[in-house]
Amino acid sequence: MDRYERMPYARCGRSGLRLSRVAFGLWHNFGTYDDFANMGRLVTRAFDLGVTHFDLANNYGPEPGSAEENFGRLLATELKGHRDELIVTTKAGHLMWPGPYGDWGSRKSLMASLDQSLRRMKLDYVDIFYSHRPDPETPLEETMGALSDIVRSGKALYVGISKYSAAQTRAAAEILARNGTPLLIHQFRYNMFTRGIEGDGLLDALEEVGAGGICFSPLAQGLLTSRYLAGIPSDSRAAKNVFLKSSDITPERRAQLLRLDAFAKARGLTLSELALKWNLRDPRVTSVLIGASRVGQLEENLGFLSKPDLSSADLEELEGLL
Ligand code: NDP
Repeated sequence: MDRYERMPYARCGRSGLRLSRVAFGLWHNFGTYDDFANMGRLVTRAFDLGVTHFDLANNYGPEPGSAEENFGRLLATELKGHRDELIVTTKAGHLMWPGPYGDWGSRKSLMASLDQSLRRMKLDYVDIFYSHRPDPETPLEETMGALSDIVRSGKALYVGISKYSAAQTRAAAEILARNGTPLLIHQFRYNMFTRGIEGDGLLDALEEVGAGGICFSPLAQGLLTSRYLAGIPSDSRAAKNVFLKSSDITPERRAQLLRLDAFAKARGLTLSELALKWNLRDPRVTSVLIGASRVGQLEENLGFLSKPDLSSADLEELEGLL
């Protein structure tokens, strides 16, 4: 199996850990109502293509928790024997169970949530445990203290944060460093259409504190693929109208997508390949974290790895289309 020749691996910040430049996320398509055989195909194909990094959270489903349960079943079957070749992550910080302890960033919530996640996945530890979002009402020292203690307990090897601003990231990293558990990684939304981190200087902050960065929804949930070029397919995420809305696909947006698609094609790329190349143009971005509902999407998306990078002239021209 040549999986490790197919994929580049990048050092995550100043840590010792190298991550596949493409990670696979189980937010969608791994819940109670999804096809288990398809989940097996997705995860094994991703791994065969060199993806070693699988991203979960306590609440992924629906039903909340079911993505972890399903991934646990896959670890015991299709992925059996490969645990030490895999980076498995989970998170806590969004609503998971009723009452005051099933949400946000208290020590109580993070510790209880990780124990539940480990039981669902039938694991002794995860590789990376994240605070899923900053909690404005819990002292940062408490949230970061819980993360450090989790590493010391052996239930996670590394810690990460998600959706923290640049200033919050600096503060979190300082507390973690004081506790002797460096911040490994930050997970943020970033794609050609969503560029808020640029104005905030998040990548500068990550470089300063020595953490890596991983972008979620690099394909803008499917917008930056061929999915919506000719309409809204009935089996697409936009047709479900929950996280991606059919109203997001305005005539202006579709016209822009067609222009981007033509730009990509002129360079021998598909639109999704273009989007992933663009996200990884800055070396401070360790990985892109993609989703897929079928194996063909994964195969198409990973094609970008074997194609030449965008030139600075390309990037400049692209900027005019965005
Ligand atoms: P993407 O932007 O990669 O969108 C994935 C979706 O796009 C697929 O499920 C599919 O949707 C469509 N798609 C992908 N490739 C193609 C293709 N080649 N052709 C046509 N359609 C395609 O990422 P996600 O939004 O899924 O997020 C990825 C991961 O990021 C999540 O699983 C999760 O792990 C993480 N995440 C983290 C968050 C956080 O708060 N930290 C928040 C959100 C995500 P379709 O169903 O239409 O086929």
